[in-house]
Amino acid sequence: MLKFEHSRVIDEMESTTKQAGIAAVRDAIARGCRDAGRDVATVTLVAVSKTLGAEAIEPVIAAGQRVFGENRVQEAKAKWPPLLARHSPSDSRLELHLIGPLQSNKAKDAVALFDAIHSVDRASLAEALGKEIAKQGRRPLLFAEINTGAEPQKAGLLPQDADAFLAACRERYGLSISGLMCIPPHDEAPAPHFALTAKIANRNGLKLLSMGMSADFTTAIAFGATHVRLGTAIFGARPTALT
Ligand SMILES: *Cc1c(COP(=O)(O)O)cnc(C)c1O
Repeated sequence: MLKFEHSRVIDEMESTTKQAGIAAVRDAIARGCRDAGRDVATVTLVAVSKTLGAEAIEPVIAAGQRVFGENRVQEAKAKWPPLLARHSPSDSRLELHLIGPLQSNKAKDAVALFDAIHSVDRASLAEALGKEIAKQGRRPLLFAEINTGAEPQKAGLLPQDADAFLAACRERYGLSISGLMCIPPHDEAPAPHFALTAKIANRNGLKLLSMGMSADFTTAIAFGATHVRLGTAIFGARPTALT
């Protein structure tokens, strides 16, 4: 009994902390938009729930958050169907975004589960997604990922390959790409990377920009981000050091 009481109190404390996290993040986004002269409605907060269980996610849903990001298809497939079933009445669906790298052989699962995919970065994947989208009749919002720092270990298109890739998506794979995503190098100022991503999007007529994480989202908003992907700022530090 005592044990039960104790854990209930801790659960409530944790839940309060998490809701404070999302409230603080909403304030910071609103301030960032005000400073940049932008309407706050033009920035979508993607709450990155990778590695976290339903007990951590539920309070954030309860605080009104509707858009969540995951970086692994398998993890999302195991975790989200019950949450979606519980919290997505037909008039107000939760949105699930894939923000991590996608293998072509998981394109089928990704198209079936996700409402947006932020990591389209090569022809084989574009082709697999084009086929699955045609087959399933689902149309997730698509972002092409740009490796703005040309980091060898990182996913994404090299900036100089972006225009040709976007043309191939349109003309060969029947894919409608709506925006660009980037993850600036860890050890560099993010602003030039956001600026470059915005420039490539602009010259290709793309309206959406998925950029900005917990450490740099106000800068990203100043450079036109329409989707900021925040984990730590909402949920606290993750148990494992996934990037
Ligand atoms: C984990 C992750 C994030 C969130 O990172 P935080 O620093 O915790 O905000 C954003 N984007 C991608 C692609 C990620 O993998």
